[in-house]
Amino acid sequence: MKILLTNDDGIAAPGLWAAANALSRVGEVFVVAPDKEQSGVGASLTLHSSVRVTPEAVDSGLSADRNGSYPVTAYSVEGTPGDSCILALENLVGAVDLVVSGINAGSNLGWDVLVSGTVGAAIQGYVRGYPTIAISVGSVTNPQFETSGQLLGLIAQKFIGDTPGSGLFLNVNLPSVPADRVKGLRVTQLGNRSYGESVREEGAAQDKRYRISRNRPISGVVLEGTDIWALKNNYISITPLQFSLTHQGQTPEVEAMLAGISDQLLTNLARADA
Ligand code: MN
Repeated sequence: MKILLTNDDGIAAPGLWAAANALSRVGEVFVVAPDKEQSGVGASLTLHSSVRVTPEAVDSGLSADRNGSYPVTAYSVEGTPGDSCILALENLVGAVDLVVSGINAGSNLGWDVLVSGTVGAAIQGYVRGYPTIAISVGSVTNPQFETSGQLLGLIAQKFIGDTPGSGLFLNVNLPSVPADRVKGLRVTQLGNRSYGESVREEGAAQDKRYRISRNRPISGVVLEGTDIWALKNNYISITPLQFSLTHQGQTPEVEAMLAGISDQLLTNLARADA
């Protein structure tokens, strides 16, 4: 089994190597990750310059001759998480059996999946039809990767064989609690907005700058069955994702609101033409 592993915390992140360690017991692991931290860049790509790729030494603790383990190969990419995943699948590694992004330090819940570089990298696996897992732990400071590594190994084993999870895109989040307080696992739905932004002004008038932080947890009703609810209640959350963002239910309302605009526009254009 061939596994592509990427992330948005960068090639040196402990969570990436915890994942590499766990996955190397399941299959051959190719680590292709940004050369520096890229959290919050979402699905962005580097389209206006070329990107350097550098082979990276793999820690001897991950060498291929460990008992029952598969080899680990690593590259760092001078680009985004999305770049890393694309370069791996299109060029450096080729087709794989599973794409994993993480283990991220910090949860990726609810609407945050649209900002998350962890999910942003994973999207490139998903759109190419590969089974894909984005995995995060709910703590940025002193995150523990032991439980998440074990869970990742168990989930990855489910993908061995005849592409059982083709088209599956799992967003996995673990609560930031000691292993003995984890209550179990729930398959969830994405919640709503989980973090809000604050803006701080910096510097004097002629040199004023603004700093955006995502440091305000949104309080309010947390619906049972959502990923946000699961983590609040010390459950591991696994949400199957898809990227159909169309709001079908609003189609009639929008059609009614825009009635006549099409004819109006065509009339105006015809008049301008004459
Ligand atoms: Mn991150």
